[in-house]
Amino acid sequence: MSDAPHIAVVGGGITGLAAARQLRRSSAGGVQPRVTLFESSDRLGGKIRSRVFAGATVDLGPEALFTATPEVPRLCNELGLSDELVAPLQSSTAVWTRGRLRELPTGILGGLPNGVAPIVRSGILSPIGAARAGVDLMLPKDSSEHDQSVGSLVRRRLGDQALERMIDPLLGGIYGGDPDALSLRATAPRLHTLTREHRSLILGLVAAGRRTPPASGPMFMTLPGGLQRLITSLRNDLGEAAVFEGEGVERITTLSSGRHLLRTSAGRELVVDAVILAVPAGAAARMLRESVPAAAAELSGISYASVVVVWLAFRASAVELRPGTTGFLVPRSERKTLSACTWASAKWPHLAVHRDRVFLRCSVGRNRPQATMLEDRTLVADVVAELREVIGVLEDPIEAHVTRWQDALPQYNVGHLERIDRLEAALAHLPSIRLAGAAYRGLGVPQCIAQGEGAAKQIVSASC
Ligand SMILES: Cc1cc2nc3c(=O)[nH]c(=O)nc-3n(C[C@H](O)[C@H](O)[C@H](O)COP(=O)(O)OP(=O)(O)OC[C@H]3O[C@@H](n4cnc5c(N)ncnc54)[C@H](O)[C@@H]3O)c2cc1C
Repeated sequence: MSDAPHIAVVGGGITGLAAARQLRRSSAGGVQPRVTLFESSDRLGGKIRSRVFAGATVDLGPEALFTATPEVPRLCNELGLSDELVAPLQSSTAVWTRGRLRELPTGILGGLPNGVAPIVRSGILSPIGAARAGVDLMLPKDSSEHDQSVGSLVRRRLGDQALERMIDPLLGGIYGGDPDALSLRATAPRLHTLTREHRSLILGLVAAGRRTPPASGPMFMTLPGGLQRLITSLRNDLGEAAVFEGEGVERITTLSSGRHLLRTSAGRELVVDAVILAVPAGAAARMLRESVPAAAAELSGISYASVVVVWLAFRASAVELRPGTTGFLVPRSERKTLSACTWASAKWPHLAVHRDRVFLRCSVGRNRPQATMLEDRTLVADVVAELREVIGVLEDPIEAHVTRWQDALPQYNVGHLERIDRLEAALAHLPSIRLAGAAYRGLGVPQCIAQGEGAAKQIVSASC
């Protein structure tokens, strides 16, 4: 019998796979840990999911990886995927507001441009809205140390229009949530820092713009074969780890020995030395309800938003895309079904090569949550009607595909980071249970990779 610690990873999304791979590459006191991964659904990848649609491979969940931080470039390099990464053909975005598409000024922080002039020129704000944004220059410094909502800060400093037409569509596009509820510290930390360092938000943005060197490479990239490539490569790199798909963990009981008993949906009982929970917060709460009720209570307080992704393929002659733009965002105040539309054919080179068709990826849910309940056919018809209005599509799509992501995006509402601190404190006496993933400290794929690998390192050092 080996003395290798046995570590379970629960959840086979990007976080769980990154954690399992890190464990397999680690050594605990000179021995490689035994790793067992449980995934409740019948496939690995979680929110990362690709499929063939209208003759091309497309992503149904995340489609763009942030590459300005090291996690994705490093992992792709280690997995031999670096040569496959491709950059967008262009990166500017428009906002559908005041009756037409208007270019969003190039921003440095959550879509806020570095000055008043780009705001005025963009036409996104009315003259009165732009004048109201300028009031920020005269207001006293915001010195609140406490967390507040993004909406509360931006409404106070720049006015309702700046929030509703610029910040809401951008931040909402990432979190699918409401900026009047989203935590400034958790979702816009640089904005939080600027308000404490500068008298005015606009002056702070101008100063930050001067300090920030222009990006040396693309900020976002993707894999033309679909981000599922990342999942397949991670899976192939797990070596001898035992991977159980279609088998979820239902309960975790901590034994008097300090080891943990896992009970699975297949009736399996497994005793392990440590566990990494890389599942959505609600699932983690159910597993920990009996053994660590204080942690389960905090986990239950993290709410989620749903989103529907609608892929449409049109004949090329039916759609004329505005040059230089990769799509548009829709503020909630416009009361549309669409919350965003990416002109995937204009954005990604591997889709642009299909010259006889145009691919559009639409998001629905944030602006009209009830639309997520519509039947596929009605939902597609609503989306196409809005596309007719805004970009004048001439025909119905030749193919459509609807993916419903129910309770998929964790909401980092005001006080989120304090909640995560309390959660970690509730688990502090159990260093052999770690939580990682989208629900906690960043929901983008790079942050999930960092959290998965970080949890693995902590577990290994606690087992030595
Ligand atoms: C539509 C959409 C678009 C997005 N776009 C982007 C983007 O462009 N770029 C970006 O960086 N991020 C994007 N994101 C966010 C990002 O995709 C996710 O936050 C990230 O993939 C979450 O990874 P995860 O492993 O933490 O969680 P998940 O992917 O949710 O994986 C958790 C896994 O745990 C499993 N599980 C649940 N319960 C149990 C159980 N009891 N036992 C065992 N397994 C269980 C689930 O089945 C799932 O596979 C997007 C998200 C969505 C929904």
